[in-house]
Amino acid sequence: MARIGFIGLGNMGGGMAANLAKAGHEVRAFDLSEDALSKARQSGCTPVGSASEAVAGAEFVVTMLPAGKHVDAVYGGEVFDAVPKDALLIDCSTIDVATAKAVGAAAAAKGLAMVDAPVSGGIAAANGGTLTFMVGGSDADFARAETVLAKMGKAVIHAGAIGAGQAAKIANNMLLGATMIATCEAFLLAKKLGLDPQTFFDISSKASGQSWSMTSYCPLPGVGPQTPADNGYQGGFATALMLKDLKLAVEAASGANASVPMGANAMALYQAFQNAGNGGLDFSAIIRMLGE
Ligand code: NAD
Repeated sequence: MARIGFIGLGNMGGGMAANLAKAGHEVRAFDLSEDALSKARQSGCTPVGSASEAVAGAEFVVTMLPAGKHVDAVYGGEVFDAVPKDALLIDCSTIDVATAKAVGAAAAAKGLAMVDAPVSGGIAAANGGTLTFMVGGSDADFARAETVLAKMGKAVIHAGAIGAGQAAKIANNMLLGATMIATCEAFLLAKKLGLDPQTFFDISSKASGQSWSMTSYCPLPGVGPQTPADNGYQGGFATALMLKDLKLAVEAASGANASVPMGANAMALYQAFQNAGNGGLDFSAIIRMLGE
């Protein structure tokens, strides 16, 4: 079993580190929050006092941090200097493509191997070990990363070179944000035209308008499978996180000279929904605003 340094034990990282410990790995865990450290101890990890301590002697480093600036600071400030040269660095945070590539290049300049491995799936998937990982890095680094990531997820997919994991993640979530809004609009239109929502679901989920937002994550309560809509839009994937991913996608599109009018509109609508105090609600709750 491997020795793993894990940094960032929040909503997602806490459950992920626990699954690595449950799989028999020796997990030395660090977070700025005392509460997160004490939860990590209860789940079988060894809490330590700094990122440097977490990665000293590690074979793998896993990070699950809020944004690019935290990833840059943690690797550049401590990890690069404290980790053994043969360790593999795995960043699972969702961050901008440019920072993922820059931190990967800085690791390579120090002779260190690194992959970006953002996840699809929320807190329940992190706790249950059923995340999907999208990995950017070399073939050899991917093969090594897979042995650790498989203990935290149900699927580990090689997306391409360093940064490709983040590109896959934000392009996917831009599609998700746009199809959710389109699904909400279609239900609201169908209702105003006199259609019963369940009847429209039965038709559209088997017709060409079908999408994951329609069939697996229907934004209307009482229609389709059980979703956050049936729970007052609590839990699920928070609007604030959807907005974060849409901003990353639109920013990356601008850097790559890609035209994303639907993504930009989805971002503006989610920004308005968050500004109205709804950042903590599941992202499908935007149907409330669109129906006003
Ligand atoms: P979170 O805020 O709950 O956890 C982040 C943790 O990082 C916190 O515990 C914080 O104390 C810690 N941290 C920040 N700076 C640190 C530092 N310098 N050293 C050590 N620890 C530090 O966030 P989360 O919901 O766990 O999300 C983590 C990442 O996963 C984000 O990039 C997010 O976009 C992504 N993500 C989240 C979800 C979700 O449903 N929550 C789903 C997919 C991806």
